[in-house]
Formats: sequence, C-alpha cells, structure tokens
Amino acid sequence: MNNENSKGIIIIVSGPSASGKGTVVSRALEKADDARIDVQLSVSMTTRGIGKGEVDGETYYYVSKEDFEKNIADNNLVEYNSYAGEYYGTPKDKLDGWLNSGSSVILEIDVNGAKQVLQQYPDAVTVYILPPSFQELEYRLRNRGRDSEEKIKYRLAKGRDEIPEAHWYDYILVNEIIEESADDLLCIIRAEKNSRRHIEYKIDEVLSTYGEENQND
Ligand code: 5GP
Repeated sequence: MNNENSKGIIIIVSGPSASGKGTVVSRALEKADDARIDVQLSVSMTTRGIGKGEVDGETYYYVSKEDFEKNIADNNLVEYNSYAGEYYGTPKDKLDGWLNSGSSVILEIDVNGAKQVLQQYPDAVTVYILPPSFQELEYRLRNRGRDSEEKIKYRLAKGRDEIPEAHWYDYILVNEIIEESADDLLCIIRAEKNSRRHIEYKIDEVLSTYGEENQND
C-alpha cells in the first residue's frame, strides 16, 4: 500500500533489552495494513550470534566482524554502535528510497544510534519502550533463555543506565500489554505524519495548484 500524497517519516524505537520492543514493533507491522499505514522495518546488521527463533534477514542481517567493519569503511551504515562487545548498525541502502516513496520506516536501535540518526534526520520521531518494572524486565530476560547469567546482569545494568535517556524521547510507551502498545505505536505514526513539521511542505504544493483562470480576481 502506498500513499503517494505524502513522504514517509522515520520512527526510532528504543528501549532496554527485553522491554518487548521487538514484539511491539512486529505486532504493529502486522496490524499496519488494516490500519492503512504504510510502514517498513529497517533490518539492522549485527555481529552477534543468531538467537532462538530469529531469522537471518528478518531479525537482523548476521555478519562477521570483518564484514561489519568493511560496511563501516564503505560508508554503508546510517549509524552503528557496539553493545556487549558486538556491533549493531542501520544499513543505508533502502532507507531514503522508502521515505521518498511514502513509506514510513521503523528503526529499532539503541539510544546512541538514535542520537546519530537525529543528526542526519532531525525530523525523526523517537519512541521509548519502558518495561513496567525491573522485576518484569529480569523475568522476561530469563524467560527468553538466550543469555548467560553474566549477560543477563549486563543487560539489566545497561537498562538502568539507559532508561534516564527516555526523558528526551518524543513518546514513551509503558509496555504492559503488547496489543495496546502496538496500537499506540501505529497511532503515533498516523498522528506524526499529519503533524505540521512533517506535512508543512504540502501548503506550498497545494497553493501552487491555484489555476491561472483564478488569477484575475
Ligand atoms: P539485542 O542483542 O537484544 O537484539 O540488541 C541489543 C541492543 O542493540 C538493543 O538495545 C537494540 O535496540 C540495539 N540495536 C539493534 N539494532 C541496532 C542498530 O542497528 N543500531 C544500534 N545503534 N543499535 C541497535
């Protein structure tokens, strides 16, 4: 589905590991067609190992450290960061094409990446996904069974350090019920597409259609 009437916007979604941001984003993407919202997910590149239930090319593009560093050198990434000793980055190739064809794009990236994207795309909308509590975050981290005890502790501490950054995000979603958070994310995209900062360019476009036959009044 493509709305040729408007440009797409970038929606940055951040949140601590296991805040459920990935699940919220995938549910929002599933519901986007019915809500008549044209939105794509930017699949990041990472050097970390593939986890249970993850799919190469869908969850991430899984690459070697050498490949990742080549992508940095070739200037193929909009932003990148290292987390827990692994690289994560946003590929450049599809982003502008999607935006120009009217698709909005969700970037699921950390706070550091968000700052880098905002320097290049200052109109990007930022959404922070908060877990209801640290107890819930720890439960979710253990429940997904992907990380060692050491990694779980690291991710929790990283969450504590990162959550204060939510103060400068445009929107904060407390993720208790996935379905509601997914709906809220779609509402944000819809409202932001019509916000003045994203659609003001339309005023001149419409004015330019004032026909010559109307010019002599
Ligand atoms: P995880 O290993 O749990 O999938 O991701 C670890 C962290 O890396 C999360 O905070 C996630 O948002 C972040 N992340 C994932 N992809 C990217 C990316 O492309 N760029 C940046 N800067 N962070 C990313």
